[in-house]
Formats: sequence, structure tokens, C-alpha cells
Amino acid sequence: MAAIGWIEVSDVYCKGCELCVTACPQAVISLDMERLTHKGFHPAKIVKEGCTGCAICAVVCPDSAITVYREIIKAS
Ligand code: SF4
Ligand code: SF4
Repeated sequence: MAAIGWIEVSDVYCKGCELCVTACPQAVISLDMERLTHKGFHPAKIVKEGCTGCAICAVVCPDSAITVYREIIKAS
């Protein structure tokens, strides 16, 4: 059963520590170097396809800044 996922990163809580970038097994997260949060951090964001919704990024985030969404794709 395949799954696709996506994440939302909170500008309020993300401090640009890159732990999620390092931890993502699909290597789909990077810091957004073109944007700063109101606290002055480059926030994390998904930069390419391939997120499986595994939630490892959310688990390692020390500030609970990531919300993970996951959709199961049923075989037809
Ligand atoms: S681990 Fe959390 S605080 Fe650190 S860059 Fe990722 S979302 Fe931001
Ligand atoms: S849910 Fe998993 S695959 Fe998706 S961005 Fe987070 S660590 Fe990467």
C-alpha cells in the first residue's frame, strides 16, 4: 500500500535548526533561504516530491513545528 505525504511547518515555532532536514529519509526538506520568519529564521519546507508521511521529521523537531499529513493510495 503506497502513501503520499506532505508537511506544514509553523513559522511561529520553526527555528531553522535543520534537524528535520537531516532526519528525513527521503531528503525532501530544506531550509527556505528566500524567506525569514518573524523571529529571523529560515524555515524548513518541502522542496521536492517524495514525502511518504512517515512523520520522522515531526518526531525529531524539538519545537513541534511540523504537522504531517498522510494519504494512503489504494491499488485499483
Ligand atoms: S526540526 Fe523543527 S525547528 Fe528545526 S528546522 Fe525543522 S521544523 Fe524547524
Ligand atoms: S514525513 Fe517523512 S518523508 Fe515526509 S518530509 Fe517528514 S521525514 Fe520526510
